[in-house]
Amino acid sequence: MDTDLFVAWFEETARLVREERDRLTRLDAAIGDADHGTNLDRGLTEVCKALADSAPESAAEVLTTAGTTLIRRVGGASGPLYGSVFRQMGKALLTPVTLAGFSAAFEAGVVAVERLGKAALGDKTMVDALAPASRALALAVRDGVGVQEALDQAARAAAEGAKATIPMQARKGRASYLGERSIGHEDPGAASAVLFMTALATVAG
Ligand code: ADP
Ligand code: MG
Repeated sequence: MDTDLFVAWFEETARLVREERDRLTRLDAAIGDADHGTNLDRGLTEVCKALADSAPESAAEVLTTAGTTLIRRVGGASGPLYGSVFRQMGKALLTPVTLAGFSAAFEAGVVAVERLGKAALGDKTMVDALAPASRALALAVRDGVGVQEALDQAARAAAEGAKATIPMQARKGRASYLGERSIGHEDPGAASAVLFMTALATVAG
């Protein structure tokens, strides 16, 4: 997993988020303030610009630049939350990047967002997609699965996790203000986390 792969990851995520921007915003309109699609679209456009300008020399640098840009440029909860995932991943990632090393760094990123957001599985947030993806990666490493298959499994786990947020009542973020009325809608942050994981599986192929 080389530096170019990580740059391609953010470029593909930016493309997917742009494609799915209106769906993400519709999901946020149902249980939030209808800005998640535009927030992330703007943030990822800035990430791609920052990566093009800074010509990062390692995967860790790509992640740190992406994380810092998301924290600085995205208004809304999701910027600092995603930003902390990638900054923590960048800090934890060892070079050269192996699947096992990536999996460990990803887990560190998920722990960072759980801490920052004080969110756990079942709270109806991005954690409900990110944590299952992290677990799938760890299992794939344990079972000696190849990179592509591991990332496919992580993307599938994220998608299942996002779908599982539909019947949940939100306990964190804006959606929690709705109480029981948050039930019956997919969490927008969980939906965007699926796009990150899908993009990674795509560019690895
Ligand atoms: P805002 O809620 O400030 O408008 P966004 O709409 O961009 O920000 O992002 C909303 C998403 O952020 C939610 O769908 C949820 O997945 C995630 N989120 C919000 N608060 C938290 C939290 N405390 N912990 C984890 N994720 C959260
Ligand atoms: Mg919002």
